[in-house]
Formats: sequence, structure tokens, C-alpha cells
Amino acid sequence: MESAAAAAAMLSDYISMSDYTSAFPQEMGGFDENVFTTPVDQHYQCSICQMVLRNPMLVVACGHQFCHQCIVKALERSEICPLDRKPVSLQAPGALVPNRGTKRIVGRFEVFCEKRERGCTWTGTLNSYDSHTGVCPKVIVKCPFQYAGTGCDYECMREDVGRHCRQQSQEHNNMMVQRMDVLTNSIWQVATRPAEHRRTVHTEVFGQIADRLRGGHTFYGEAFYSGPCDSGYRLRIKIVPNQRKLGLYYSLVKGKNDELLDWPFRHTVIFQCLHITEDRVIVQRTVPPPRDEDEAWSRPSTGQPSDTNHGWGFQDILSRSKLKHAGVRRSDRVRIRYIVLWELCPAPGAA
Ligand SMILES: [Zn+2]
Ligand SMILES: [Zn+2]
Ligand SMILES: [Zn+2]
Ligand SMILES: [Zn+2]
Repeated sequence: MESAAAAAAMLSDYISMSDYTSAFPQEMGGFDENVFTTPVDQHYQCSICQMVLRNPMLVVACGHQFCHQCIVKALERSEICPLDRKPVSLQAPGALVPNRGTKRIVGRFEVFCEKRERGCTWTGTLNSYDSHTGVCPKVIVKCPFQYAGTGCDYECMREDVGRHCRQQSQEHNNMMVQRMDVLTNSIWQVATRPAEHRRTVHTEVFGQIADRLRGGHTFYGEAFYSGPCDSGYRLRIKIVPNQRKLGLYYSLVKGKNDELLDWPFRHTVIFQCLHITEDRVIVQRTVPPPRDEDEAWSRPSTGQPSDTNHGWGFQDILSRSKLKHAGVRRSDRVRIRYIVLWELCPAPGAA
């Protein structure tokens, strides 16, 4: 058991250690041969996708190598080497191993830039491609004058940003002033608001509830910020169907203010399920602020919550009868509201 876990950890290291993870992204399979500046030897090609090996894996029994994605997909269908039909078990430890040597060699092959048709003349090793895309003059970028979803939405090649900013400096200044007005106004509103209104309310409607209950798969709401004007923590709601009932949870996801915020997160969140058409609260439950020792509330490292991410909430908050009362049965939709209280709760033990 332990060795299987260790092997899995080693494999995920191998896949993620790639210096070119984003290079020439592909739904499936290896690198297109056309991105290489010189023809690539047959030896470095995957005979499943006919492309140049990406994360090569070696079938130990016969010595054949394939892209990681390709061979895993193939073995899931049938546990034999696609070339010579030798039996290979995905479960057997050591039957399929990372081929670091080949990966290193492929990483040194010279490639063109993906934006070659737009005129980028860069060539370099596959390994260095990721760092090139960060500076490539032909990559489309957004105008830097953007603030929390407002501002200039101009897009152009990186090399043209400087000219755009020089030409539009007056417009950009105006935008900045407008933005400052909005911010000042919202700060004023927050400061003068009575305490009971210092909260963020976020409401979402989810459809296809019957299907989701049947499928039993977790689904997520859209991420939102706990404060006004995209300030504060970024949260996302997770809804877990469980035998004709729904559980509601929230988790923290990476947000743009994380650097400035206090961790761990220590706010109260209130879940409400509303009637789908009438303005009635069917269920309300309060999630108290997490305790300090709770690891889950330290700064999140990922923008995407997954099933394994920590969440905080209630397993069976929406029972069958509650769902019926909320009009979910008839409309096949559920309306959920989340209220985040801004007040920081005193730390445990604080006076
Ligand atoms: Zn392949
Ligand atoms: Zn083979
Ligand atoms: Zn380039
Ligand atoms: Zn602009």
C-alpha cells in the first residue's frame, strides 16, 4: 500500500516537474512534430498519438515508451502494450515507470515559438519555452489599466502595449479617477453602514437538480468575494448530493487580495435556501467562524476547489421535504443565498 502511494507521489512529481507544462497545450498526446526546428528521431515518438513524447513512460516488460496520458488511457481500455500486446497491469507497481532520461532529452530539443505565424522569431529548447511565453512579444495580452473588472478592456500583442498606453494615457487617467471615485464611495458606504448591514450577500440559482441528485456528483457555485468591490476573501460554494438530499459547504479559493488578508479565515457564513419564486427562507443555518487550529482556513493555494478540498458546512441541510417546500421539485432549480459577515470574530481565548 505504502509503496503504491509512494509510486503515485513520484509519478505526480514527474508530471509536474515538467519545465514545459504549458508548452503547446494539447487535449491529449504528445508535442506536434511541426513545433520542432529539426525532424525528431522516430525513437522519441509515441506510437499511440504519433507525436513527440510528452512525459514519456516506459513499459518495463518490453521497453516500449509512450506519452503518460496515451499509455494510461490505452491501459484503462485493455491491459496490454499497444505495440506488442504484452500484458501490462496499471496496478502492478513498477510495470510502468517514468522515463526521465528520455524526458530530459526531449526537453533539450529546439522548438519554434507557437506565435511564429505572427512573426515571433524565437527558437530555443522545449524546456525554456514556458519562460519565453512570459515575454513573447506576439502573445495577446490585456491592457494593464484594469481594476476589479472595470477599466480598459483593450487587448493587443505584448509588443504593442507600450504604444497603446502612450496613445491612451488620457483615457486611462480618466478611468483611474472614476475608479477611485467608486472606491471612495464604497469605503464611505461601508464606514457609515450600520453594523447589522456589514455583510456580503451572494445568491445563486442552480438548475437540473433532479439530474444532479441522481448523478450524485458534487457541483460548485461561482467564486465570489466576501467584501464589496471584489475585496476580501474569495469563496466558493460546493453542493454535494447525497441520497436525494443536498449538502452545502463553502471553501476558500485563491483570490487577488490574499496577500493583504489575515489568515486563517475567521468569519461567520450563513447559508439560506430560498423558495425558488417566493421571497421566503426555507432553511437557514449558520456556520460559525472556523477555529484557529483548523488548517483548512489558512491561505488557499489553488483557485479551483476540488472534491478533496476542505469545505465547511452541513451534510444534509436540504432534505427531501425541504427541497419540496422550496419549490425545487416543480422547478428543478434551487436558490441558495450565502451571507458572509464582515465582523472579525474574537479569537478563542481573547478577552
Ligand atoms: Zn502519445
Ligand atoms: Zn511493448
Ligand atoms: Zn514567441
Ligand atoms: Zn488601455
